[in-house]
Amino acid sequence: MENKLSFYNTLTRKVEQFIPNEDGKVGMYTCGPTVYHFAHIGNLRSYIMEDLLEKTLRYIGYDVKRVMNITDVGHLSSDADTGEDKMLAGAKREHKSVMEIAKFYTDAFFSDCKKLNIKTPDVVEPATNCISEFIHMIEVLLEKGYAYESGGNIYFDTSKLDDYYVFSSQNEKELLVGVRDDVEEDSNKKNKSDFVLWFTKSKFDSQELKWDSPWGMGYPGWHIECSCISMKHLGEYMDIHCGGVDNIFPHHTNEIAQSEAYVGHKWCNYWFHVHHLNDKSGKMSKSKGDFLTISLLEKKNYDPLVYRFFCLQSHYRKPLEFSYDVLDNMSAAYDKLVKKIGTLDKTGAVDSSKFDAYREKFEAALCDDLNSSMAITVLYDMLKDEMSDATKAALAESFDEVLSLDLTTAHAAKEADRGVDAELEAYVLAKIEERKAAKKEKDFAKADAIREELLEKGIALEDTREGVKWKKIN
Ligand SMILES: [Zn+2]
Repeated sequence: MENKLSFYNTLTRKVEQFIPNEDGKVGMYTCGPTVYHFAHIGNLRSYIMEDLLEKTLRYIGYDVKRVMNITDVGHLSSDADTGEDKMLAGAKREHKSVMEIAKFYTDAFFSDCKKLNIKTPDVVEPATNCISEFIHMIEVLLEKGYAYESGGNIYFDTSKLDDYYVFSSQNEKELLVGVRDDVEEDSNKKNKSDFVLWFTKSKFDSQELKWDSPWGMGYPGWHIECSCISMKHLGEYMDIHCGGVDNIFPHHTNEIAQSEAYVGHKWCNYWFHVHHLNDKSGKMSKSKGDFLTISLLEKKNYDPLVYRFFCLQSHYRKPLEFSYDVLDNMSAAYDKLVKKIGTLDKTGAVDSSKFDAYREKFEAALCDDLNSSMAITVLYDMLKDEMSDATKAALAESFDEVLSLDLTTAHAAKEADRGVDAELEAYVLAKIEERKAAKKEKDFAKADAIREELLEKGIALEDTREGVKWKKIN
């Protein structure tokens, strides 16, 4: 099939044409959430843009298999393997067990995704399901000489690789800026960049979840989870691995190190990373300031899809600044857009040449490094163009397979919430037009008759300077 999609590959630091390992098929992996707390809207930006990538691939004809893990053990408070397990900290905070916390926040995550129209990946696998697979991979790494035991833990030996820092020519010190600097150095490590594959000794002996292993009772490191789970479902050759930019180092760097040491060849060809969501004070995080969640936006009366619309208006490779002012503007624009689409007259013929031409433009925008704001511009241009309402409605429905903004249904749903159904609205608007025409032709008897007819149906008209308004009366 035609390979027309290009996007930025962090591994080669270039926008590249996407060519999958197997023609027409895509194996795609996403680092899932660590389920110790609600996702903040910055985390969700990554999942929205990854969803856009997946849906674009499907839209242009690929058969996609997408896999995501759920981190329910082993992700410590610093990404560099020190501190307390985030899950344990969550359990202590809420006086619950780790598994209760995992269940609660996994459900909360998927509930947020549903509100944002993020498709659930084909495979979702919690890390605690795969302990025997992690142990096997670590055994192989030990046999091959890429791992060592020290102080009770198993470490990956980064000095065994020619190029550990695959993502960047930056030096170690610069890369470590992203890692918390208040962590103590682990004296068991041979090299500063080595990382833990399996813990049996930790300062935090209260770790609730432990499993038997050849090296004693313990638990896996965070990085090994993604290597194992992706390989379990997608095999030794993967097309696209996704995540937020803060996953590049150390998490994705470590995933590549251990995966390629294990399989003995190149593992994943394309690395897709989404930039941060910032507020005025900088990068959004759970530990700082206003902890912005989808539920909080809902409490403030924002439709979650307005947040999706906001994310799609910006490029995934640019940091995005969040503010309520911008969200207010997005909200007004979104309402206007879905009203326009929701009140199109869907009866009549679809003009197939217009349809194909706009579909092509829309695909071209997305295939150009996933230019989602350009894709939305194509949508607006299409709505302004001369063509039948039916063609516009069909195009909006088609684009929504990727944009997932409920373009054709949101207006009716909003009206139903207000107690107005779309059919009634279409009827009233048609009557208002008919009355306007009658008045223009000075047929006032007809205009009055229309007003009466509506009144009998419980609809009152009001002539205002902005035009005719209508409301339901009892
Ligand atoms: Zn991961």
